[in-house]
Amino acid sequence: MAIYVVLPVISLTKILPKASKGYIQKPLEKGVEHNPFAKRYRKEMRRVALVYPNRYVGGIANIGLQYIYARINESDAICERFYADTFDGLRSVESATPLSEFDVAFFSLQYEMDYFKAVEILKKSGFVGLKIAGGPCVMENPLPLLDYFDAFFIGEVEGYVEDLITAKAPEELSGIPGIYTGKEEKVRRVYAKLSKHMDREIIGEGAYGRCFLLEIGRGCIRRCRFCIVRQIYFPPRWRRRNHLPEVEEKKVAIIAPSPSDHPEFKEIVQQYVEEGKEVSPSSVRADTLDEELADLLKRAGVRTLTIAPETASEKLQEVINKEIGEEDVIGAAELASTRFEKVKLYYMVGLPGEEMEDVKAIVKQALRVKSLVRRVEISVNPLVPKPHTPLQWIAFGGDENLKDGLSELKKKLDYLRKETKKAGIEADISGFRKFAVQTILSRGDRKVAAMLEGASYRKFEKYLEPIDPELELPWDFIDHGYRKSTLLKEYDKIKKIL
Ligand code: SF4
Repeated sequence: MAIYVVLPVISLTKILPKASKGYIQKPLEKGVEHNPFAKRYRKEMRRVALVYPNRYVGGIANIGLQYIYARINESDAICERFYADTFDGLRSVESATPLSEFDVAFFSLQYEMDYFKAVEILKKSGFVGLKIAGGPCVMENPLPLLDYFDAFFIGEVEGYVEDLITAKAPEELSGIPGIYTGKEEKVRRVYAKLSKHMDREIIGEGAYGRCFLLEIGRGCIRRCRFCIVRQIYFPPRWRRRNHLPEVEEKKVAIIAPSPSDHPEFKEIVQQYVEEGKEVSPSSVRADTLDEELADLLKRAGVRTLTIAPETASEKLQEVINKEIGEEDVIGAAELASTRFEKVKLYYMVGLPGEEMEDVKAIVKQALRVKSLVRRVEISVNPLVPKPHTPLQWIAFGGDENLKDGLSELKKKLDYLRKETKKAGIEADISGFRKFAVQTILSRGDRKVAAMLEGASYRKFEKYLEPIDPELELPWDFIDHGYRKSTLLKEYDKIKKIL
């Protein structure tokens, strides 16, 4: 994704009381959210827990969780939600019922770092029902979690929710498309046809504010070599404008991996703006932004334009194939200068072939943007080489020699911290350890689960090393529909550029 357009986010913790350790110890208060699917438990009902082992603001802004919740509560079963920041993930937000009283628990794993909380919740809750995990992390590689769950759902779950919740034992799950229990030799990822959009959702204070989530597409038509979206959500699918619902809420968040690639994107934004709504797209590619769209976004209430060039180096743009050059970034900043309050820039470091000059280019680019707009902020994260992408074989840090790569990475991050401070650029520069842990969990096998039990990531540094492309990979058993030879060709292209 290239540009994210962000409207102010109100944290739920401003609305709800904070308890000790920063966790909310009460169910949601009346009026905090509007839940059209709320249901009262009756004895004969099957109880399904939907667990998001991270904060409420992220969970409520996740359209996939909204689908699952609606689907289950429209059936004979009942679904209740669990978030890490409400009762520490151990009781439901709807009725404060302990997780241990549910029959099935669905865990949604959106980030590798959520594995730690997921495992903690499973252990502390004493849950003995059916444990199923899904989400993008599971779709890329579920092996580190094999000892904690009965099954993993590899794909988009909408069409199979009923099959999953009626199963009483793990054996009843095998055979359902997309299910991986650890015994299958191969699993083919399943995907859904984008049917009619839901016309009701839970409305709460999420990452996009209090709004209706409008999913206009899934998958991506682009081929950024570091990004997993293209592989795990293939094929790209769009919802047509006339299939979108009427929305009562004042604000609409437009959701898709790259929404401005939708052939009717401007028309969709315009339609809701003309109805008097605030509209917040999850992202807009810099190279799709023109005057007309910028004006429309201003009318939509956008105040911060977040651009994700990923790298400011021309050579590295070619390596990652993001196709967002200096002119696109500066062009977008110029359009933003008279319309938006702030521009936020997202970059990565630790790319293959990256030199100090490429890192210096980040500061230079940020300074050029700063000369055009009122406020600029940059965010820099180390690259996590993801399974199923053409970068899956590279070392974390981007250097063939892991030790050199890690020490260079540290120098580059220190340089960025120092130089942005000197230049008066607001900056959020990550440390690299968290990203090393993410890499190990995303490229690991069953053994790396020891990290979830307290072992240091240093014990698993071999998972950060470059991988021989001739070797079989732990996640090769997942069939996402691409040919490995295609990824290898892309990998070879990178080597030729360098
Ligand atoms: S491939 Fe990924 S990073 Fe590239 S535009 Fe699509 S979603 Fe964004």
